[in-house]
Amino acid sequence: MTFVFGEAQLEGIGSIVSTKRLENEFYGGAPDKHLLMERLLKEATHEFGHTFNLYHCFIPGCVMNSSTYVENIDEKSIRFCRECETQIQKDDTRIIKD
Ligand SMILES: [Zn+2]
Ligand SMILES: [Zn+2]
Repeated sequence: MTFVFGEAQLEGIGSIVSTKRLENEFYGGAPDKHLLMERLLKEATHEFGHTFNLYHCFIPGCVMNSSTYVENIDEKSIRFCRECETQIQKDDTRIIKD
């Protein structure tokens, strides 16, 4: 890999996302703050999912789909598919309830 959009510790506490390659300007396009925010939220949710022990998911549209190109981020939704959501709920011992 020559770059990443983000990285996370699987079932860990740390994750990081970079906005550099999420910006339209990086690809020679016009600035689009709304699109940048949408991409950032998707990637942050994705990395957060890894910290909940989720691996990459192949169900179309799931936020846990792997993204090689920024277009892949635009194609997926911000939501976890039903299977990923179920797995997070099983692992809810890590969710602070108070
Ligand atoms: Zn990932
Ligand atoms: Zn999924």
